[in-house]
Formats: sequence, structure tokens, C-alpha cells
Amino acid sequence: MRKTKIIATLGPAVASHEAIRDLIEAGMDVARLNFSHGDYDSHRQFAEWVRQAAAEQNKPVAVLQDIQGPRIRVGTFDGGAIPLEPGDEVMLRPGEARGTPSEVFIENLQAARLEEGSRVLMSDGLIAVQIVEWDGEVARAECIEGGVLHDHKGVAFPGSIVDIPAVSEKDVADLAFGRTLGVDYVAASFVSSAFDVRRVKNLVPGTPVIAKVESVVGYENLDEILQVADGAMVARGDLGVELSFEAVPRAQHEILHRSNAKAKISITATEMLESMNHSTRPTRAEVSDVAAAVLDGSDAVMLSSETAVGRYPARAVQAMARICVEAEASPEYGRGPEIHFLEDRARFASATAQACVDAAENLELRAIVAFTESGSTARLISKYRPHSDIFAYTPHEGTFRRMALYSGVTALRFASVDSTDKMIAHAEQNLLELGIVEPGDGVVMAAGIPPNQAATTNLMKLHSIGSSA
Ligand code: PGA
Ligand code: MN
Repeated sequence: MRKTKIIATLGPAVASHEAIRDLIEAGMDVARLNFSHGDYDSHRQFAEWVRQAAAEQNKPVAVLQDIQGPRIRVGTFDGGAIPLEPGDEVMLRPGEARGTPSEVFIENLQAARLEEGSRVLMSDGLIAVQIVEWDGEVARAECIEGGVLHDHKGVAFPGSIVDIPAVSEKDVADLAFGRTLGVDYVAASFVSSAFDVRRVKNLVPGTPVIAKVESVVGYENLDEILQVADGAMVARGDLGVELSFEAVPRAQHEILHRSNAKAKISITATEMLESMNHSTRPTRAEVSDVAAAVLDGSDAVMLSSETAVGRYPARAVQAMARICVEAEASPEYGRGPEIHFLEDRARFASATAQACVDAAENLELRAIVAFTESGSTARLISKYRPHSDIFAYTPHEGTFRRMALYSGVTALRFASVDSTDKMIAHAEQNLLELGIVEPGDGVVMAAGIPPNQAATTNLMKLHSIGSSA
């Protein structure tokens, strides 16, 4: 069984019920709707296809809404692009008008606190210019790294403060729309502080928010961001522009580890199987990268253009699934920096989770069973990365889907019952039916008693399948 979960971005390459079904069959656990692209009709259609196909396959699949955040873009050009060469002089002006080879319009340019010598990066860092003169509104700049600059490409101001709200009007509208779709997670782009995350969380009460770490400031403020966010995504595309590409692996390790240590969800994203946009198989370097992200502690790995616009979306998911399974078989898997004790707020649940994992490891048990209302018991157990698989029973549909993102967790539904004995009997019967355990196998179970009272997880039961004790 694969433990690491797979997020696939939806887009024109998978715009049909069949294509979505194929992605789920191939192993997609979470479908990402990227609100930097596409219109509401297509997002709604995708969400419906995901829900239908997941129901047909009786699989938990979560929908993640990724909001654009404070991204700044260039305007347009005649012919759709301009060439820029090192040494070229260009004027940078605020606005979204049509530019020329010597004049580039940038929305919200006036919000950037630039100075002489500041660098401005365009098109994922491909093109770099340096400010020669800046009057607070218009800049004269010299091209340092050249390339072809296309319409609407993103702009980054590494190291400069940009005074624009972390949550734009578009984001507010998009989040309200996302609620009508019943999205399971929100990913917030370019967050730079706990305050930014709180703003997003306040707009979507009850929905977990993943902070995309993709700026220098966001990376520097990682600890306070993780106090508020429900998880962190290593958004390597933009992060590699804002830092520098060689700084990304270390940042990735830090972000994943600190997120895991706080019992938050950890995701590695971007360019993981990039060559599969055009090729039926990944490069050896990509395979190593995905495996490294798994060994580095990711709950989930993400595909972007590979599934949204690539030629082989389902094959990319299959390839990713195969790489994850193989990496998880490594003796190094789950042996990251030791996690001692999770969550100051859930002390009983954390201690119970840790005890369950210890018991499962010592007794070499095949399964850990969790009964969970919110999913947090399953997440806490998962964070210790046990060898055993985690089977998490929940009566809530939302929890069932959200657990699709937790490493090593298989979400299962069950109707609430009024006694601990009935809970245990139900799980036993169900695991036997699914062929996961056989009579005589030992399992460890975590529950909160009394049942049905959202009691904190406070009970660990060692149970031998088929025995009444
Ligand atoms: P994006 O975020 O795909 O929304 O830009 C991911 C990244 O920057 O890596
Ligand atoms: Mn990004």
C-alpha cells in the first residue's frame, strides 16, 4: 500500500469525466483547482467530475482550492512577447497597458519598495533586470539575464517589500465561490506571515488552509505561519526564484521537517515530473527527486502542469505512485529527524497516538485503527510515520475526504455507534471483509471515550482479531 499521497492539478488535459476517473484510478488522492487559471464554470465542472468519479470508485478524494494571492504580473505585448538581452535598457511602468521591447508594464509596480540596485525577476526568474533609477512609480532598469518575456508572466521582487494585500479582491470572491463547491482544503499563495494566513482562515471557517511557502519573507516567517496554518507546501517554482535554485533543497527539508514536527500537513510541489509533459516516462533525476521528497517526510507530492496541460496525465500519476511505493520500502523511510511530542493543545491525543505507534512497531502489527471525528487522531498517528498502515474510521463525510491528504492513512466510513464495544466490533468485521487482517492478527486501536461526544482521544486498545477480549 502506498503511504505518500498524490495531489494532481486539473486543467484542459483532463477536462472530462473519463479523464478524472483515470486520474483517480491511477492514484490521485487530492484534486487541485488552480484559481490562477480557468473560469468558475470550468472549476465547478471539475469539482463535479471529481465528486462523481470518487463516489463511483468509493474512494476518498479531496478537492483543494489554490488561490492566486498577491501575485504581480506583466501586461501584454504586440505579438504576445518581447525579447530582452543582457545590457538592454527597459522602463518599468505601473499598469497593465501594452508594452514594447523597451517598456514593460507591471501591475501594482508602485507598491514595490524598490531602490537602486534592486533586482526584479520576470517569467519564473528566467529574466532578471536591475534597477538603475526609481522615482517611486517608474523605474529605469538594465537587463542582467535575458530571454523572451511573454504576456502576463509573473514578476518577483526578491528581498523587496511589496505593499499589496495578501488576500486580493479576486481571492475573496474566489474563496466565496469555493465554498459553494464545498472544497475540502484551501492553499494560499505567497503568504508572508501568520497574519496573512489568519485572514484567509477567517474567510473560510472550518476549512483547513495550507500555506504555500514561496517567498523569502514567507520562508523567514515559517514558524509563525505554522502556528496558524494547517499545513505548508514547498512551492518550489516561486521559491526557487525568490531564493535561488540551489537554496531550494535545504529549504524543502526545513519546511517539511518543521511542518511535520508541528503535526501539520507537508507537501512538496512543482516540476516533480516535468518532462512527462511531453514524455511517457520521467527522467532518472525526476524519479530521484520524488523519492527524495518522500524520504524527506512529505505527506504528499504534487503534480502541476504534468496533469493540467501535459500529454500523459494519468501516466504521470501512475509514475508518481510507483516511485512513492518504492521509496517507502527504503529502510530510510520514516527515519527522519525524530519527532518527540506533538501539539501542545492535544496532549492526551498526542500521547495516545505515540503510544499506539510504539506498540505497533514493537509488536510489528499490520494495522493501526483510529476512530476519529475531526481526523486529527489519524493525522497525529501518521506524523510518527509508523510502518503499519493506519485505518481511520469516521462518521463525517468531510473528515473522510480530508484524510485523503494524510500520509499512510486509509479513510473509511462508519455510522456512529453508542459503545466502544460496537466500535471495535465494527472495525474488526470491516477489516476482515476488506482482507486487511486475518483472525489471530493483532491490531492497535485509538479512540475517544465515551463515544459520540467528540471526546479527546484517550484510549488505546490492543486487540487480537477474532477474540472477544
Ligand atoms: P503555483 O505555485 O503553481 O501556483 O505558482 C507553486 C510554485 O510556485 O511552486
Ligand atoms: Mn507559485
